[in-house]
Amino acid sequence: MMKTLPPGSTIGILGGGQLGRMLSMAAAQLGYRCHIYAPDAQSVAAEVSAEFTCAQDDDIASLTRFAESCDVISFEFENVPVEPLHQIAGCAPLYPPIAALDIAQNRVAEKIFARDHGGTTAPFAEVTSRAELDQAIADIGAPAILKTIRMGYDGKGQSRIQPGDDLDQHWQAVAGQPCVAEGFVRFSHEFSVILVRGQDGEVRFWDTPHNVHEDGILAHSLAPAPVEILNQQEAARALAAKMAEAMDYVGVLTCEFFATSDGPLFNEMAPRVHNSGHWTIEGAVTSQFENHIRAICGLPLGDTGLAANRVEMHNLIGAQSDDWQALLAAGANHLHLYGKGASRPGRKMGHVTKLHF
Ligand code: AMP
Repeated sequence: MMKTLPPGSTIGILGGGQLGRMLSMAAAQLGYRCHIYAPDAQSVAAEVSAEFTCAQDDDIASLTRFAESCDVISFEFENVPVEPLHQIAGCAPLYPPIAALDIAQNRVAEKIFARDHGGTTAPFAEVTSRAELDQAIADIGAPAILKTIRMGYDGKGQSRIQPGDDLDQHWQAVAGQPCVAEGFVRFSHEFSVILVRGQDGEVRFWDTPHNVHEDGILAHSLAPAPVEILNQQEAARALAAKMAEAMDYVGVLTCEFFATSDGPLFNEMAPRVHNSGHWTIEGAVTSQFENHIRAICGLPLGDTGLAANRVEMHNLIGAQSDDWQALLAAGANHLHLYGKGASRPGRKMGHVTKLHF
């Protein structure tokens, strides 16, 4: 049953970063109030929201008070501990469902889940000891990538293994944490399927962006994508929609893929709005942020079509955001700064979107 929350209702968001900030701004436009729950006192999401609870993720008393003040709860960060969420489940609906967090927090679980729904992944092996690392590389071969099973993002918690490398150094690089070893994929392009699923099961896709990473971090997203990606879009979308349905998903779901000569290879999923969808704020009729709010509030989903012939999104990483005046001088640029203060190397400080007509 679709439960429509009227404007004026309170949306709880777990996590206090830039995704929460952009969700909160989209919610405000529709007349909702956002309540941010995050462990750090400095929160760029709380700065633009109606309420803020600064408390730890496992502080059940604070979490319960927060949940009781909300009409619906969502998250902007997929590494929220799951156990405490079960304890507040009766206070307010939580979207996307906890099952999606359980899967997305574990790189092995998400690959198995994708395979179970007909997807293809890089060859991989779970590695929980130094001896298993030897075995995994013997099975998969090198080059390969060793990734921590939990908590990795933006290339963090990863070590790239070349043929002949001393594996001790890679095992040290991941501090002996449980890992997945993945075969290195020869891909022509990277892309993501970004979909929104409503409470009634309706699914809409945005145009598939071509994503360019530098040093393991997203640098640019470009839409529409080139033909090499468009040829693989249907299969990738079908997999993402199947996975969403299996989780009884509500909200925006992002699945990242490699375009290879054997078709789309699933890399990972994010049960949330995603950096590769930031271009939708100005580049699509309805942004990923607005449609996430619409979905969790039980509103009709908005049109996901392109709003220009071509859209580019460039992340501003570290000192790149220091050029904000020059970026604004180009009148067609849409500049987004996340309010994080001084730039630090590797930190996502903002993004700029350019529309071409
Ligand atoms: P991830 O954290 O899994 O998204 O990895 C970050 C980036 O590293 C990806 O977007 C790719 O550019 C690269 N990468 C990750 N896994 C592989 C792989 N198995 N083969 C080749 N490149 C990879």
